[in-house]
Parts: sequence; structure tokens; C-alpha cells
Amino acid sequence: MLSNRAMISHESLLWTLLLQIPLVCSDIHVAHAPRLQTVDGREHQHPEVPDRARVIERALVRANLATPIKPVVHADVTIDEVHDPEYRRFIKNVCQEISEGACLTPRGISLDPKALQSKDPAIRVGHYAFGQDAPLMRGTYRAAREACDIALTGLDHVRNGARHVFALCRPPGHHAEYARMGGFCYFNNAVVAAHSFSSQGRVAMLDLDYHHGNGSQNLTYERADILYVSLHADPAFAYPGFSGWQEEVGVGAGEGYNANFPLRAYLAIGEYLSSLEQACEVVVAFDPDLVIVSIGFDTHTEDPIAQLSLDSCDFGRIAACVDAMGLPTLHVLEGGYALDYLGESAMSYVQGLSPGTSSPMGH
Ligand SMILES: [Zn+2]
Repeated sequence: MLSNRAMISHESLLWTLLLQIPLVCSDIHVAHAPRLQTVDGREHQHPEVPDRARVIERALVRANLATPIKPVVHADVTIDEVHDPEYRRFIKNVCQEISEGACLTPRGISLDPKALQSKDPAIRVGHYAFGQDAPLMRGTYRAAREACDIALTGLDHVRNGARHVFALCRPPGHHAEYARMGGFCYFNNAVVAAHSFSSQGRVAMLDLDYHHGNGSQNLTYERADILYVSLHADPAFAYPGFSGWQEEVGVGAGEGYNANFPLRAYLAIGEYLSSLEQACEVVVAFDPDLVIVSIGFDTHTEDPIAQLSLDSCDFGRIAACVDAMGLPTLHVLEGGYALDYLGESAMSYVQGLSPGTSSPMGH
């Protein structure tokens, strides 16, 4: 019987022959399907729905651009080295208390540990949240935990020589901080993968979601072994609003290893690509062994919660820019909420990448 590693190497070889991108995905995420979110005290339709991952998977597989593969279970310890282990266990336990179909929205956002003594589970969740837009359901822990396995399995395939791997993570992760959920995110899938690789080599994270990845910055801000570079809408007008400024460059050992490129509203592809080229120069200068792209399709002009002006075909040009760095790359899904455009945007993105292999990395 083949070991997981041997099976992964065998699969990696197969994709090379097929010239397709490995696409790590599963259906577990459908158990996390919040219908409403609270914004400024009012309820709205929740945009982070299961169809987001479904339409991307369907489009890439039907176009023969990607081969779907299932995630492999990885140990909790990898997540517990990135997030507060109490935070992970809290989410796991509180989700079991929620009845099927119900949604638990955090309330009374407070860092005071006394909140954890409350009889009201919404107040207890509020201790581990920085906003009300990441509600919990019975299946949220399983979905968020699976999203980490999807990113980590994607990393395994890059380690084994796949040049590009797409990790179809849902829920997304780049807003999740050390012990706080928010912005539709619970565990930081991209940072969990980056941390897992960090004992083996240098990792550059390139965040191309419309929103600043406050969680990814928070978790890597004092680290020199993980570079975080982000292109995002200026926090002066865009979520999360409290991070993403140019002067945030890291602290302590991490000083000089955090770079933010805030963008103006309604900017189109020409201007976007010149900022992306600068961001890629920062990545290449770091001389990483691995790049992890947090890819968000909410920079699309039709996205219902964002204000940039990119078209579906522009994602191919963005991917080509990333590809031109010539580095092994794990692409981790973050945002993107225009369901009618997600499939074609993802197809354009993957078409901009060169399938193939790089040398398997040492373990
Ligand atoms: Zn976003």
C-alpha cells in the first residue's frame, strides 16, 4: 500500500503529463452556509456562500484546466502553532452546541476574558471575534478545519514538485487573527501553510484579495522568515479599515518584512499591474523558496462588496505576472462574491499560469 507521500508524488507526476493544475477541494464546506450577516446592527444576505467554491471547481474542471484532488488530514498542531489553541478548541466546542441550520452571531465584542463566563454563547463568541460578520453554524468548525487541510495538502503537492497548486479553501482565511475571527474568516489557511513550510525554507505571501489581510499581517508581523506583501483597496475607504497602511512595515525581527500597497477606488488593470510588478519585485528580492498567493476575485468590477474595476480576463494577466517570478507557488482562495463571474475569473487566472513541475523540495 502506498504512503500518503508516495501517492502525492504519483499524482503530481500525473498532472505534469496532463498539463493541468492540481485543484485541492472538498464538499465539507457546504455545512457552513450562513444566510444572514449583521452590518451596523442590520441584517443582510451573507455573500460568503457555498456556491462560491462550487462554481470555481465546476468551471476549472469542465475546462480541463485543473484536476480535483481530495485533501489529506493534517494534525491540529500545525494550526495550534499559528492560532491560540484555546481559540481553536473554543470554536470546535461551541459549534457542537449550535442546532442544525441555526446561526450564532458574535455579540458584545470584548477582549475581556470575563465574556467567556457569560451564559449567552453569542457573548462568549464575541470574545474571539473582531466583528459580527463571521457567524458560527454547527458545521463551521468542520468546514474551517477542512479549509486548513486543503491549504496544507496543496502545500504537500508543491513540496513534491508541482509548480502551481490551487487550494480551493472555503471559508476564506486572511482576516483571521491569532485568536479572533472576522471578515468571514475563522482560521488563516494561507498562514497555516506558510508556517508549516517555514521550518524548511523562506516563504513569501502575496495577498491579492480586494481587502487587506489584517489576519495574515497580524500573524507574521514579527517574523523575518515569512514575508507578507499585500495589494488591496486603501483602508481609508475599504474594509477592514484598521490595517493595510503603507507605513506598516513589521516590528522587531519582522521589521522590513511587511509591505502594503494600498490602491485607489475604481482602479483598472493597467494601474493594478504596475503596483503588482512592484510587489513582485519585493517578493523576488526576498529570495523565497515558496510563494503563497492569497487570491481574491473580489477585485472584479461586478463584485457586490468591493470597488475596483478589473474584468474577468484581467485575472490571466495578474496570474502571468505571478508566474513570471518563476517560483513554486501555492494559490489559496480568499474572497470573491460575484457568483456569475467567479468561474470565468478563475479560468482566466489559471490559464495565466504555466502548469508543470519544479524540483521536489527536501523534507
Ligand atoms: Zn476580500
